[in-house]
Amino acid sequence: MPPIIEKGADWFLSIGTTNSPGTKVFALTGKVKNTGLVEVPMGTTLREIIFEIGGGILGNKKFKAVQTGGPSGGCIPGSYLDNPVDFDSLRELGSMMGSGGMVVMDEDTCMVDMARYFLAFTQSESCGKCPPCRIGTSQMLEILERIVSGKGAHGDIERLEELGRLIQEGSLCGLGQSASNPVLSTLRYFREEYEEHIYDKYCRAKACNGLGRYRIDHTECFLCGLCKQACAFGAVRELKDKFFIDEAYCTKCKACYAACPVDAVKIEKVAGEAGKV
Ligand code: SF4
Ligand code: SF4
Repeated sequence: MPPIIEKGADWFLSIGTTNSPGTKVFALTGKVKNTGLVEVPMGTTLREIIFEIGGGILGNKKFKAVQTGGPSGGCIPGSYLDNPVDFDSLRELGSMMGSGGMVVMDEDTCMVDMARYFLAFTQSESCGKCPPCRIGTSQMLEILERIVSGKGAHGDIERLEELGRLIQEGSLCGLGQSASNPVLSTLRYFREEYEEHIYDKYCRAKACNGLGRYRIDHTECFLCGLCKQACAFGAVRELKDKFFIDEAYCTKCKACYAACPVDAVKIEKVAGEAGKV
């Protein structure tokens, strides 16, 4: 404020873009090295904010997406990192400026689970006045919870798209009108992750429990036994100086995956279980 009062409105309007003049403060957070509040001229690119100011991705992992605008914002993929950030461009990408939140996600983030997480927030925030928001968001959430737990079915993607559109069009206030943004934007940019969860029962980020097939890679395993200790279900068996996972007992809880110090426990795609509920 002091520089605006000192230098005048015209000076402030000379910063930024024609339709979005001035500066904007973003709350940069998530899987980025430097988190915090950053003030940049409107029109600064996402790449400049995340990689130059934010210092890049934590642990030098791969960038996957950035969600702008708070819980109702959309998730933008890496192909749009060079887009300028202003009101119009974010809207065109299916997101929004909103509260100025900017959550960076890396390759270990499951986009379906992320959409479920944000929708759970807006669903619980719904005041309940209008049915599209009150009932629609809980129906969408129910579908997303099925998908991330490996019980997604053929037609779920289309149901989510239709519900998302109906909620956007039929809700009375901004909360309902924007609640489905995280789901619709991830369906637009990360559709294959939804398809993998539903048809292959697989989460490529290895974030969702209950999905994939667990296997120990004997070329990487150095027989420390930590996976066996971590398994509460007796599914890790030792046989002829090798560890195996007995699928009949495995609940896919991920404890062995987290315990192995050398990533010898693999979670792999289970093909051919298309759309089983
Ligand atoms: S995923 Fe869980 S139940 Fe399955 S083998 Fe690993 S620790 Fe045991
Ligand atoms: S924790 Fe990893 S390295 Fe240790 S026995 Fe199990 S699979 Fe092998």
